[in-house]
Amino acid sequence: TQELHIVGGGMAGSEAAWQAAHMGVDVVIHEMRPKVETFAHQTGNLAEMVCSNSFRSDDDEQNAVGLLHWEMRAANGLIMTTAGEHRLPAGGALAVDRDPFAESVTAKLKALPNVRVSYEEVTDLPTEGHWIFATGPLTSPALGEAIQRETGAERLAFFDAIAPIVYAESIDMSQAWMQSRYDKGETEEERTAYLNCPMTKDQYEAFIDALLAADKTEFHEGETAGYFDGCLPIEVMAERGRETLRHGPMKPVGLTNPHKPDEKAWAVVQLRRDNALGTLFNIVGFQTKMKYGAQTDVFRMIPGLENAKFARLGGIHRNTFLNSPTLLDHEMRLKSKPNIRFAGQVTGVEGYVESAAMGLLAGRLAAAEILGKDLPQVPQDSAMGALIHHITGGAEAKTFQPMNVNFGLFRPVEGLKGGRRGRKDRYKAYTDRAKVAWQEWLTNF
Ligand code: FAD
Repeated sequence: TQELHIVGGGMAGSEAAWQAAHMGVDVVIHEMRPKVETFAHQTGNLAEMVCSNSFRSDDDEQNAVGLLHWEMRAANGLIMTTAGEHRLPAGGALAVDRDPFAESVTAKLKALPNVRVSYEEVTDLPTEGHWIFATGPLTSPALGEAIQRETGAERLAFFDAIAPIVYAESIDMSQAWMQSRYDKGETEEERTAYLNCPMTKDQYEAFIDALLAADKTEFHEGETAGYFDGCLPIEVMAERGRETLRHGPMKPVGLTNPHKPDEKAWAVVQLRRDNALGTLFNIVGFQTKMKYGAQTDVFRMIPGLENAKFARLGGIHRNTFLNSPTLLDHEMRLKSKPNIRFAGQVTGVEGYVESAAMGLLAGRLAAAEILGKDLPQVPQDSAMGALIHHITGGAEAKTFQPMNVNFGLFRPVEGLKGGRRGRKDRYKAYTDRAKVAWQEWLTNF
C-alpha cells in the first residue's frame, strides 16, 4: 500500500494519523516542532494544547461539542480516549492534565508499527502522493506562502475577525425586521439575507458607553495587530469617536422599520444570514476583542437581541485558514490538487475538539482512498457531518470565518416546538438522530 503523509502533528494531524494507521495504512507525520517553533506552542509534543486545558462540554445530549466527543469516542478517537485518561475534575466540562495528555498521545502514536514521525518543516504542496495538511492556526510562514501561490492570496487568511453569531430563533421579530439596505437583491434569498435592529438616540448613547467600559482581551505576545486594518474591533471604532459606528456598520440609511413607519431610527444594527439553512445570523461589522461575558451583556442591549442566544461570540485572533467553501471538495480535498487534503483549524473550524474531529474524518477518508474503498458521504445529521458540510459547502463563502460546532449547523428536526420552550427536546432530538446516523456510517469500516 501507499504511504499517507500528514503535515502537522497537532490535534487534527495526530487524530488523522491514528485513524489511518488503524485502517492499515503506513503513515508519516511531518512535524516542525521542536526545530521550528510557533509563538504559542511550548513543547515538542504532538497534540499540545496551546491555551486552555479544556475540551469544553461533555454533555452528549444537550450540547453539540459534547455530541462531537461522543461521536469521536464511538470511532476509537485518540484525542478523546486519551483525554478521558487524563481527566481533571471540572464539572460538566472535559478538562485534562495537559502535559501527560500530550505525552501520552505522542507515545501511543510512536508505539504503532506503521507510524513514523519525521521532525521537519514542509514548505510546499507536493503534486505526488497522498497528503493531509493539518498545520493549524499557526501554519509556518513559508508553507503559508506556498498555499497562497496555489489558492490565490485572498483565499488564505492570516487573521480571523469574527463577528458574533446569533441563533435566528432567539431574535425578537416584533422589534427586528428583514430588509436589505436600499431593498437591494433580486431573489427572495437575497432579500431575506439581512435582519435589522433599530436604536433610538438614547439607546445608541447607552450602547456606546457600554462598549467603552467593557472588559477587553489583549493580544497574545508575538501576535501583531497591524494585519487587520479595515476590520477594526467595534470598541476601537467607538474609541475613535462616539459617532463613528453610526456612520459605519450601524448607519441607519436605506432601511425602513415596518414596526414604526413614522420614526427614523438613530442607528441600526444589521445581521446577515450566516448559513444556507437560515438558522444563524452574524452581526455585521461587529468583530471585537471584548471578553465573552462583556459581549453577551453589551449585545443584549440591542433592541431585538435582549434574549439572543449566541452560536459563537466574536473575536480577533492570529489564525491561518482557507476559504474552504470555495477551495475544498466534500471530502476536504483541494479541488485544484486532489492528492492533498486539509484538516483541522486551517479548514475554518475553530477549537481543539472541532480540529481533532476534522482530523478524524480526513484520516479515514484518505485511508479509504488509498485502500480503494468506496464510502458513502458523511451523514449531515451527525455532528461530524454538520461540521464538514458547513465548511465545504453550507457556509457563505464571501463572509466565511472559522466556526465552532453548534446546533445551528444541523438540519431542523420536523414537528418539534420552536423557541425557548422546545429547546431541550429539540437538542435531544438532534443528538439522538446524530448518534444513529454516525453509528450507521461507522459500519462501513
Ligand atoms: P495545531 O494543534 O496547532 O497543530 C498544527 C501543527 O502543525 C503544530 O504542531 C505545528 O507545529 C505544525 N506545523 C505548522 N506548520 C508546519 C509546517 N510547515 N511543517 C510541519 N509542521 C507544521 N482552541 C481551543 O479549543 N481552546 C483554546 O483555548 C485555544 N486557544 C488558542 C490560543 C492560541 C494563541 C491559538 C493560536 C489557538 C488557540 N486555539 C484554542 C485554537 C487551537 O489552536 C486549535 O483549536 C487546535 O490546536 C487546532 O488544531 P490543529 O491540529 O488544527 O492545529
